Amino acid sequence: MGKVIGIDLGTTNSCVAVLEGDSATVIANREGYRTTPSVVAFLKDGKVETGAAAKRQGALNPDRTVFSIKRKMGTDFRLKMGGRSYSPQEISAFILRKLKKDAEEFLGESVTDAVITVPAYFSDSQRQATKDAGRIAGLNVLRIINEPTAAALAYGLDNAEPQKILVYDLGGGTFDVSLIEIGEGVIEVLATSGDNNLGGDDFDERVADYIAENIKKQYGTNLKKDAVAMHRIREEAERVKKELSSAMSTNVNLPFITKTKDGPVSFEMMFTRNDFDRLTKDLVDKTIIPVENALHDAGVRKEEISKVILVGGSTRIPSVQDKIRSVMGKEPSRSLNPDECVALGAAVQGGKLGGMLYPGSPADQIVLMDVTPLSLSIETVGGISTVLIERNTTIPTRHSRIFTTAMNFQPAVDVRVFQGERRFTKDNKLIGNFRLSGIKRAPAGVPQIEVTFDIDANGIVNVSAKDLGTGNEQSITITASNNLSEEEIQKAIWKARVFEEEDGDKYNLTDEKRKAESLIKKAEAMLIEHKDDWDKDKKKEVKDEIGRMKRKLVKRRFFKKSEEAVGDMRSSQQSLQALLERREKEC
Ligand code: AMP
Repeated sequence: MGKVIGIDLGTTNSCVAVLEGDSATVIANREGYRTTPSVVAFLKDGKVETGAAAKRQGALNPDRTVFSIKRKMGTDFRLKMGGRSYSPQEISAFILRKLKKDAEEFLGESVTDAVITVPAYFSDSQRQATKDAGRIAGLNVLRIINEPTAAALAYGLDNAEPQKILVYDLGGGTFDVSLIEIGEGVIEVLATSGDNNLGGDDFDERVADYIAENIKKQYGTNLKKDAVAMHRIREEAERVKKELSSAMSTNVNLPFITKTKDGPVSFEMMFTRNDFDRLTKDLVDKTIIPVENALHDAGVRKEEISKVILVGGSTRIPSVQDKIRSVMGKEPSRSLNPDECVALGAAVQGGKLGGMLYPGSPADQIVLMDVTPLSLSIETVGGISTVLIERNTTIPTRHSRIFTTAMNFQPAVDVRVFQGERRFTKDNKLIGNFRLSGIKRAPAGVPQIEVTFDIDANGIVNVSAKDLGTGNEQSITITASNNLSEEEIQKAIWKARVFEEEDGDKYNLTDEKRKAESLIKKAEAMLIEHKDDWDKDKKKEVKDEIGRMKRKLVKRRFFKKSEEAVGDMRSSQQSLQALLERREKEC
C-alpha cells in the first residue's frame, strides 16, 4: 500500500495531511496554501475550477459557483449545469480530486488510499455519501472518522496522560461536540452531539442581512434578490466577521453595490464587535445545548473535564470563546491549529490503517473507539420507534432483538429502519426499508424474527432480519433512498474520468493560448520600445514571428485534437521566445 492521506473535507475549507515518519504533516496545495476552499465552479467554457480559483471568480459568477456542498450531502439535491446533472457526491468529488492531485504532486507518487473525516453528527446517509464522493474521485476510502475524534487523536499524541477532554468544533457549516476520554493507549469517545446546520456561514448570513437592510434603509433598494450583489455582501460580511475576531470595530466597504437615479453608489458603514455579538448571540447560545447533552449522555460532570479543545475556524470568534469559558469554567485550549488538526488526526489514522507506523510507537499503540451519533430503531406497531442501538454506543457494534408478527398468518414483515431520538417514527428519519417474506403460517405472536443491526467502524449500518422458524434471511446495507445506487456511482466514476481528460485538454489549450498572447504583447511592447534603435530587418524579423504566432492562434480552432493545437502553438511560441531573448541580450 502506498501512502494514505488524511482528508478533512470541510464545508468552507478542506485540508489534507500525510504521515511522515511518526508524525503527520499538512500538505500544501499547488497554490502553496495549507487549506483549500471547498468551492467548485462550472465555467461557461465547460471547464471546472476548484479551490481558490473557484472562490475568486464566485462574485462574478454566483450561479455557476457551488459553496458549502457539504450541507447537501446525503440529500437528493441535484445541480443542473450545462446539460448535466450533478449529485452532492459528484460535486464533493471535484474537491477531493483536487486534494488528491495536490497530494500526489507534493509526494511525487500516486495516492489512492485515504481516510476522510465527517462531523460526528453526520447521519448514515451523509457518511455513505462522503464515502461515495471519495470513490468517484478515485480514492479508496479506508475509513470515515469523526472530525472531533480526529482532533482528539492529534491532541492525544502529544498529551497521552489519562484525561477527559471536550472537543468543541464550530466550522463553516456544522457544529460538533464530543466528550473524549484519553486512557492508556485508548482514545474513547464517550458521547457526541451537535447541529448539522450551524456554522460560520450562519454568522456571515446574519451580518450580510444586516448590511442589506442598512443599504435598503439608506438607498431604498432591496438587494436580497440580487444574487451577484448578495454574494459580494456575504464576502464582505465574512471579512468583517473575521476582522472583528481581533479588532473592536471595522468598516463595511462595498464600492458600487447599488444604483440610484443619480447613478451607482458605494456603501460604507461602521460595524462594531458589539453589533456582531448582538446579531449572533442566539447562534452562540445554541451551541451550548449540545455541550450539555454530551455531558449528560456520558454521565460526566463539567469539573471532570480537564481540557476544552477548540476546533474549526469559527472558534476564533471571541464571543464563542467567552461562552465556552463561562459555561465550562475554564480557559479553552488553543494548543492545536483549529484549521489543521482534523486532517492531521485523519493522517495518523490513515498511517495506522496503512501499516505506516513503527510497531509500538505511541501513535501505533493508540486505539480509537468511536460512537454512533444517533439512535437506530425499527418501526413497530403504532408507529413506535423501537430502539436497537442507543446513540453514543461505541462502534463497531452489533445488536439483535427478537420480534414477532402482529397479525394472524402474516406472510411477511416490513423492516423499516429509522435514525433519531424521537419516540415515534414519523419524527425520525427513515434510512432504510426492506421486506422479509416467506414467514411460516402461524398465529400472531408466534413467529420469531431476529433483527440484527451491525455498525462498522465507519459508522455505516447493516441490518438483517431472520425468520428463526425457517432460517430465511434478508439483509441490507443502509443506503437511504436519496443516496446513489452502485450503478449510479460507477457511472459517476466513469463520468469523472472522462471529464478529467476533457478538463485537462481544455486547460492545456487555454493555458497555451494565454502564454502565446502574453508573448505577443511582450514582443509588441519591445517593438515600440526599440522603434528608434532597431533597424528595419530586426523589426521585420520580430513582426514576422508575431504574425506567425497570431496565425497559429487562429489556426488552433481547426485542429480536431486539442493536443495537436497545443503542439502547433508551442513550436511558434518557442521561436518567438528565442528571438526575443536574442534581441534582449543584444540590447
Ligand atoms: P472550517 O470549516 O473549520 O475551515 O471553518 C471555516 C469557518 O471559520 C468559516 O465560516 C470562516 O469564516 C470561519 N473563520 C475563519 N477564520 C475566522 C476568524 N478569524 N474569525 C471568525 N471566523 C473565522
